[in-house]
Amino acid sequence: MRVAVTGGTGFVGRALVKALLERGDDIWVVSRKKAGSSSSNDSRLHQVTWDELAVSPGSLEGTDVIVNLAGESINQRWTAAAKQRVLHSRTEAAARIANLVSQLNQKPEAVINASGISAYGNSLTATFDESSPLKVTDFLSSVVEQWEQAANAIPVKRLVKLRVGVVLNRTGGAFPLMALPHRLFAGGRLGTGSQWLSWIHLEDMVRLILFCIDHREMEGPVNGSAPEPVTNDQFGRALGKAIGRPHWLPAPAFMMKAVLGEMSSLLLEGQRAVPRKAIEHGFTFKYPTIESAMSQLSGKS
Ligand code: NDP
Repeated sequence: MRVAVTGGTGFVGRALVKALLERGDDIWVVSRKKAGSSSSNDSRLHQVTWDELAVSPGSLEGTDVIVNLAGESINQRWTAAAKQRVLHSRTEAAARIANLVSQLNQKPEAVINASGISAYGNSLTATFDESSPLKVTDFLSSVVEQWEQAANAIPVKRLVKLRVGVVLNRTGGAFPLMALPHRLFAGGRLGTGSQWLSWIHLEDMVRLILFCIDHREMEGPVNGSAPEPVTNDQFGRALGKAIGRPHWLPAPAFMMKAVLGEMSSLLLEGQRAVPRKAIEHGFTFKYPTIESAMSQLSGKS
């Protein structure tokens, strides 16, 4: 199978590309950069830039599936300029893919477009599955709404809108930073601790993307989060227990807002999303509970 991965150089993308190569697929990583001289000499791995594709879209002729993971990191202070980059990088990537696909003689069978579980807005009480309506409550939910709208314009029969939760891995993404206060014996709940965290282990994220690539019945919104979301307090307790550190020192919301600005909403607000569609179609999670994930993330298993 021939798969193009935009943002294939990123945290999720690198793990996905590795898994695709391991199962024998041909990969085209689409990046802003040219491949470096130290890049892999695997003949099934190619790298092409967005600019090269704009000139010769035919290089992706024959691609079976495009996975779009490109987007400016939200892990930075949310200045007006940064917010513009976060939004524009996502809507532009989707628009470029729409333009590219429209020029291909043989359309890909599917496009899997990453998005976020912020699509549902923030809530302390609701549970969201793929049938829940989109709700704009803050900057991130507004980004996701516009990102999905841009993806809707991609002229492909099967569009998967993969609403990704917080992706956890021992060495990358948000987890090492989230674990830092506990590792320094200063961990505790953030704000009230009752805000929801819909998370997924990186291995399951990659497995779910492969599942979406292979299962033609997977289309439309798909929640990419584990079946058992946790509150911030439950997350901290499970983390402390797994690494043998106390969970005792709360960080008040006003302090986090003063230090992180608007970006503090990433930690102080959230939503409880469940992966109903994946489970109904037979996907099984390797790490369904936070305890199983923490055991791996802390290095115990
Ligand atoms: P990364 O932050 O690792 O970035 C993915 C890639 O996007 C980068 O490798 C880069 O590729 C490209 N990129 C970065 N900035 C820009 C920009 N300004 N314009 C265009 N492209 C850019 O993302 P993740 O792997 O963590 O996440 C993949 C997708 O999943 C993202 O869209 C993210 O929003 C979404 N998601 C991730 C979550 C997580 O916890 N990781 C949670 C929810 C959603 P290159 O330099 O090669 O062009």
